[in-house]
Amino acid sequence: MLTEDFMGLVNATKATLATVANDFSPAVFASSLAAEDMVLTDIILRSGLPIEIFTLETGRLHAETLAMADRIKQAYGYDIKLYKPETAAVDAYVRQNGLNAFYDSVEMRKECCRIRKVEPLKRALTEKKAWVTGQRRAQSATRAELAVQEHDQAHGMAKFNPLADWSEEDVWHYIRSNDVPYNSLHDRGYPSIGCEPCTRAIQPGEDVRAGRWWWENPESKECGLHVVDGKLVRIKAVQTSTA
Ligand code: SF4
Repeated sequence: MLTEDFMGLVNATKATLATVANDFSPAVFASSLAAEDMVLTDIILRSGLPIEIFTLETGRLHAETLAMADRIKQAYGYDIKLYKPETAAVDAYVRQNGLNAFYDSVEMRKECCRIRKVEPLKRALTEKKAWVTGQRRAQSATRAELAVQEHDQAHGMAKFNPLADWSEEDVWHYIRSNDVPYNSLHDRGYPSIGCEPCTRAIQPGEDVRAGRWWWENPESKECGLHVVDGKLVRIKAVQTSTA
């Protein structure tokens, strides 16, 4: 459902991002290049906020997702920074376990995510004061307690989720109203987009994240970017910037 005071929601998000830029510099935005992240990209770049935008180029992304980097360059004249996994670590994993060993067990999947996402993320966050994500509370059971501002224990810094209060309809209303470029996979049944072998299209009525690691239980469906030691961490909000 579209939030009644949609413009109030947008203005609160702009205020949160301005606070990040002013009070938590240097700050970065981890973009998955999906719809939510394009909303934040649009606000950051149109507002000229000094928040670096990067994506984790895992080596297993869809071509449509990778194409978003060029589309952002065309639309905004901005080069998204790409963080890639260490070649030696990827080679060793594939040599020992096979290219698609993540289907074999949760442990194998988490190890692949650790190599291709968690370690590059750690590099991207080095010496930063805060990072921003496009997560929303309504996306899944694992995000039900998401706050706009959290303390990220794993990385020892502030973490902002400026879209925590947004509905899916809010996201798409913003995109259509502002002519924001978006990943064409969203038009083909992919509300949530990750690596190609670990994401499938969903059926109407399914949870928006049901297509991510669909062979696992819902409780284990996070990639380690927002969890500590493989467990979900309910991080207490220290401030809610959109309040
Ligand atoms: S989402 Fe899949 S392919 Fe991508 S890093 Fe995780 S396990 Fe590997």
